[in-house]
Amino acid sequence: MSTIFSQIVEGEIPARIVYEDEATAAFLDANPLAPGHTLVVPKEEYERLNDVPDDVAQDLYATIHRLVPAVEDAVDADATSVAFNNGEAAGQEVPHVHCHIVPRFEGDGGGNTHTMIGKQIDLDDDELDEIAGEIESNA
Ligand code: 5GP
Repeated sequence: MSTIFSQIVEGEIPARIVYEDEATAAFLDANPLAPGHTLVVPKEEYERLNDVPDDVAQDLYATIHRLVPAVEDAVDADATSVAFNNGEAAGQEVPHVHCHIVPRFEGDGGGNTHTMIGKQIDLDDDELDEIAGEIESNA
């Protein structure tokens, strides 16, 4: 069973496609948070960012880079929030990697990444050193 985004890419269900190339596509979100809310996807199905091969990741970033100014200009936005919900625990509902480009406007009342969770945690220096070391050795 293919994802809803694969069905959009295949033209099996309608969407307002705003950009397409060999590897990627972009279309308006059906439940927009702002005018111009756009989703960018790889045409191949990968569930998470971690699953996307290097060459597709480059194509995906190139499309995001191209679409951000196109979206901002189209709706005269002051800025954009650009985000991936990467995994179910992070709120990802469609298991097909997608980047949200959400136009932002002065005074729109929306938050930034810190408001996703709402409270900051306290970590001491030892904990921070250990976590940084783990990430560094995994990278
Ligand atoms: P997620 O929560 O997985 O990061 O976001 C999925 C997004 O896909 C949501 O913003 C939702 O509005 C959008 N979406 C879900 N189904 C459809 C659809 O059939 N067409 C379009 N254009 N967007 C959809």
